[in-house]
Amino acid sequence: MSHPQTILDSPIEYLKGVGPLRADMLKKELGIYRFGDLLEHFPNRHIDKTQVSSIGDIHPQTEYIQVAGTLVSMDTLGEKRGRRLVAQLRDRSGILELTWFQGISWVTRNLHVGSDYLVFGKTGFFNGKPQIVHPEIEPFVPAKAGGKTYLEPVYPTTEKLKARGLNGRQLGKFTYALLSQLQPADIPENLPQPLIDKLKLADRFQAYRQVHFPGAAQEYERAVKRLKFEELFIAQVRLNLVKLQRNQYSKGVVFEKVGEYFNTFYSQHLPFSLTGAQKRVLKEIRTDTGRGHQMNRLLQGDVGSGKTIVALLSMLLAADNGYQSCIMAPTEILAQQHYQSISELLREMPVEVALLTGSTRSAERKRILKGLLEDSIHFVVGTHAVIEDTVQFRNLGLVVVDEQHRFGVAQRARLWEKAAVPPHVLVMTATPIPRTLAMTAYGDLDYSIMDELPPGRQPVTTVHRSETARASVMDFVRTEIEKGRQAYFIYPLIEESEKLSYEDLMQGYEQVKSFFPEPKYRISMVHGRQPAGQKETNMQRFVKGDTQIMVGTTVIEVGVNVPNASVMVIESAEKFGLSQLHQLRGRVGRGSEKSFCILLTGSTASKEARERIKIMCATNDGFAVAEKDLELRGPGDIEGTRQSGALNFKLANIVNDKGLLELARSEAEMLVKEDTELKLTINSPLKLFLRSQKHKNGWSRIS
Ligand code: ADP
Ligand code: MG
Repeated sequence: MSHPQTILDSPIEYLKGVGPLRADMLKKELGIYRFGDLLEHFPNRHIDKTQVSSIGDIHPQTEYIQVAGTLVSMDTLGEKRGRRLVAQLRDRSGILELTWFQGISWVTRNLHVGSDYLVFGKTGFFNGKPQIVHPEIEPFVPAKAGGKTYLEPVYPTTEKLKARGLNGRQLGKFTYALLSQLQPADIPENLPQPLIDKLKLADRFQAYRQVHFPGAAQEYERAVKRLKFEELFIAQVRLNLVKLQRNQYSKGVVFEKVGEYFNTFYSQHLPFSLTGAQKRVLKEIRTDTGRGHQMNRLLQGDVGSGKTIVALLSMLLAADNGYQSCIMAPTEILAQQHYQSISELLREMPVEVALLTGSTRSAERKRILKGLLEDSIHFVVGTHAVIEDTVQFRNLGLVVVDEQHRFGVAQRARLWEKAAVPPHVLVMTATPIPRTLAMTAYGDLDYSIMDELPPGRQPVTTVHRSETARASVMDFVRTEIEKGRQAYFIYPLIEESEKLSYEDLMQGYEQVKSFFPEPKYRISMVHGRQPAGQKETNMQRFVKGDTQIMVGTTVIEVGVNVPNASVMVIESAEKFGLSQLHQLRGRVGRGSEKSFCILLTGSTASKEARERIKIMCATNDGFAVAEKDLELRGPGDIEGTRQSGALNFKLANIVNDKGLLELARSEAEMLVKEDTELKLTINSPLKLFLRSQKHKNGWSRIS
């Protein structure tokens, strides 16, 4: 069914005052193709003409300010790259300097010394004088005394558009023209009326008008709240529909019994007793896999919470029911380590385990591929790429994706293509994902949380030391090594190919060597430029305890398990992200010994870097770290989320609008549970809307 064309689908050139040339610019610069796109190009703020401050009130703590005054001078200074335009704005209380580094000729043409302007921007101080760089500026028209407050929208635009006269103000004129043509029916309600009533939401048509042209601040707040809620709610309805439809209608392999493999292993070979959290998650997995529908479960657990054994027990459950399993790791080293620990645990069990990675020799590869087709191999451990691309199974029942937060919905779908009845999927994250992010980026999955560490672990003590304290840090590491422990030295390597950080690493290695001379001390080094074989050998020497020190880059970040290692020194800690630091720290504190993480920084750490380090020193809790990380970086910067498309909200922001997201989630869950197919009349506006947005992911699968 193709949905009817509405006025909002009209090409933008047809809007009064736009025309083909400006339309081209709007398309290129702002992605505004249709009337509807313009309507959704929201103002980033409103100017309240009644809120004008005095220049004399600006002080070093002032952030943004709006002032009005007369332009008293305007001069171009400097040459070439240093060229800038400096103007002075004067009001009764003082003088404010305005500076432009770009668009100088446009500004010079359009501003006039002697005229009055309204100026808004972020203030700074330069040589003790207040200034604004690249201010928003427009002719000042005093608000009428006693009149209604008038909030004028200011739209995001680009320097290029401004240079063609398409400034934020002009965009406002277009939007005004558009809104005055629209009838309520052009922006029909898409939320169920009872929900609108219950949450006291603004009506949709009104909300669109008032988000652009509010009569008062409260009107804007109400409009924006409604539109944010709508965005979040629609996304959550989609995710819940996908999840529910999959749970109800997808076929899934049935693991109906717990059998010999599982029971024998559990009673005879499990080297410890499971934590309460591990038991709970296993129960969830058993329930999921027994229902006849495909399981899609996200297992979140902090570093060291023991996710591997949960995966292994699930794989044994698959084997009991006649199915093969694979476990996919993001790196060769990690795949290797999983292979070894799983083989070790299954030593006395009649289970065939194979390792398949990029460096598996071709004869061995052939043997494995054949074994998987014939079902003589039960478990295969490998790197993603290899397993996804080349492997055919006789009878694949379970896929475990380990240590992966870059695994989008699309990739998950690719796995199902392998079998007529899709295998169960268990995604295990390396570090916890903040709740709001999990709800949006993984909202179509069920999730399990392991919030308990195995008993006997001592929390890692994390400290911050400056580079100048290096000698005493080294002394400390030495005493740990004398006690028989092992130590990591980690260097930042942003890109494996980056020359500079590679040299840093080499220098670091020499430095560590000078403090810990051979032959008394033995050092392994691992980095991304080594051939796989060499990396492997060096890693293994450290794992076996042949070397006491491991110097490396973040290639060791993920999953590596050396319980005897009790110290980690992170060099240039200011260069690491928060979740990366936490993940690295998770490499120590895995044995029963007290462990330490020392964050070394130079003197140049930024405010944010210092904040990250402070958080690391304050908590060991990965869930808390993840929340802080999201707060500090914002959703757009969290790895893997940009591609996921799940966070492309125009107005809502999962950090700032957390409460609204929780609300949208629970309302969407309830609605989808009650009306699985959106058959109720009250939900038909919603259904219609989702259909009209069919191109967006999710809904297309079910209607
Ligand atoms: P992660 O969740 O980070 O992948 P692992 O699965 O690598 O953690 O487990 C970390 C360590 O804890 C391993 O050495 C593992 O053998 C051990 N471990 C896991 N579960 C338990 C438990 N219930 N009791 C004691 N040790 C455990
Ligand atoms: Mg792990």
